Amino acid sequence: MSTKYIFVTGGVTSSLGKGIICASLGRLLVARGLKVTVQKLDPYINVDPGTMNPYEHGEVYVTDDGAETDLDLGHYERFLDIKTSQTNNVTTGRVYYDVIKKERQGAYLGKTVQVIPHITDEIQSHVLKLGESGEYDVVIVEIGGTVGDIESLPYVEAVRQLRYNVGRANTLSIHLTLVPYLAAAGELKTKPTQHSVKTLSESGLQPDILVCRSEHHLDASIRNKVARFCNVENEDVIESIDARSIYEVPLLMQKEGLDTRVIEKLGLKTDKEAKLDNWIGFVEAVCNPSGEIKIALVGKYVEHHDSYKSIVEAFIHAGAVNDCKVKVVWVQSDDLTPKNIGTALSGVSGVLVAPGFGGRGIDGKLTAVKYARENGVPFFGICLGMQCAVIEYARNVCGWDGANSTEFDDNTEYPIIDIMHDQKDIENMGGTMRLGKYKCKVKEGSYAHKAYGEDIVEERHRHRYEVNNNLRYKLTEEGMSFTGMNPERDLVEIVEIADHPWFVGVQFHPELRSTVNNPQPLFVDFVKASLKYAKTNELYKPSKKTGMPVN
Ligand code: GLN
Repeated sequence: MSTKYIFVTGGVTSSLGKGIICASLGRLLVARGLKVTVQKLDPYINVDPGTMNPYEHGEVYVTDDGAETDLDLGHYERFLDIKTSQTNNVTTGRVYYDVIKKERQGAYLGKTVQVIPHITDEIQSHVLKLGESGEYDVVIVEIGGTVGDIESLPYVEAVRQLRYNVGRANTLSIHLTLVPYLAAAGELKTKPTQHSVKTLSESGLQPDILVCRSEHHLDASIRNKVARFCNVENEDVIESIDARSIYEVPLLMQKEGLDTRVIEKLGLKTDKEAKLDNWIGFVEAVCNPSGEIKIALVGKYVEHHDSYKSIVEAFIHAGAVNDCKVKVVWVQSDDLTPKNIGTALSGVSGVLVAPGFGGRGIDGKLTAVKYARENGVPFFGICLGMQCAVIEYARNVCGWDGANSTEFDDNTEYPIIDIMHDQKDIENMGGTMRLGKYKCKVKEGSYAHKAYGEDIVEERHRHRYEVNNNLRYKLTEEGMSFTGMNPERDLVEIVEIADHPWFVGVQFHPELRSTVNNPQPLFVDFVKASLKYAKTNELYKPSKKTGMPVN
């Protein structure tokens, strides 16, 4: 069976949840026994999102192979339980970068280099790379942006050509659109969808299936109207109603028959029944947890929840395992002081100090670490959060006043966190951190070892600074244990305080590999410890089993 390509475009507005629709369709096809991957094409000129501010772009999702990518790749991994790589995310910046490099090498043999055919050819070759690997039955390609945007045009044109090049029967075009409800008229309106399909068709791409986001159910007459005016069959109008949780979307799409229509149209040979028992159990656990606990997420980008997307999702996975909803309490680190910390963290059963870059909000983070350490509140520090735990310990337990990271203070007497040796001479910002999957040897008897149940684990990284090996002896003497080390380079990966109910800091990003089917073990154990803390301190709220929405 040759690889089939499904192209997913979006119309009317952004933020309709194209990534979730792609991930949900992917999950349904995987559940039918197919090998599937998802690729994201992003129409911006950054080569990758690695240089973008979290307010601008949200979280940068790092893959095993160290690519800094769009956060939608996180959804693909979490839903499909697959590993993505650099090939799964292509931006306009990367496409132009590659074309210009080739032009400088003289690869175009004297031709004028143009958007068509050179840019569109380059886009096609990026898409075909995944199919040609021979690993997949289906490649779902999400085209970022909204149809009609100037920057999306080369992508739509590349898809139009690709459909011809690989044969129409091997491709499918799905368009995600909005059917808004006008309260004053008491009606759902189809006109925006008609216009969006018209715009797409003018670019030569007729959708085969329309997925319609709506706050109300689409009745037969609305479906009929959309079908008639957009040149699709009635069965190809798929309703996508607001869900209780994003994880419910695959089940809603299955009810609407999205997977069945895709399979029929592409002539895919699949298992008859989708295996979704685990998924259904998970959604049930997410939507009807036995109780609720609060965990503080201390960070400086908290106004923009997408900056911490994978952490929030990892809490949902870990909450389901522990049969409780984790309610994230967003705490702005800029505002934290020793005076208000008690109030800011009152009622929480766990404290997570988040990753980040730069000095803003560091004092607040250190205050949060101290509070959790001194009051026996379960603590989880991730990347910068772990570095803060080490700095706090050096200052307040070892008595090294002014101990710091050289990221924030070049002249500190105690540079307990310092720039990695091989980072010192790097000048370019893009793609130059310690990125991707590295090994960590976990010490027996540690919290981390209990959680993982393994001696060697592999986790993903994104940092330039590390614990200073010349100074860490002092912390060991004073009771901080270094329970995870990178065996190749002797870099500290995990720190713990043994005589604390649960105090773990990790240099890596465990949140990036938490999936529905494989929740990340440290998150599961942190939530378990927080649950214990909540029950002991009467912070646990049993639910009435009413099916509370989680997201
Ligand atoms: N700024 C820190 C470093 O570069 C931490 C990075 C992070 O939290 N991802 O080492």
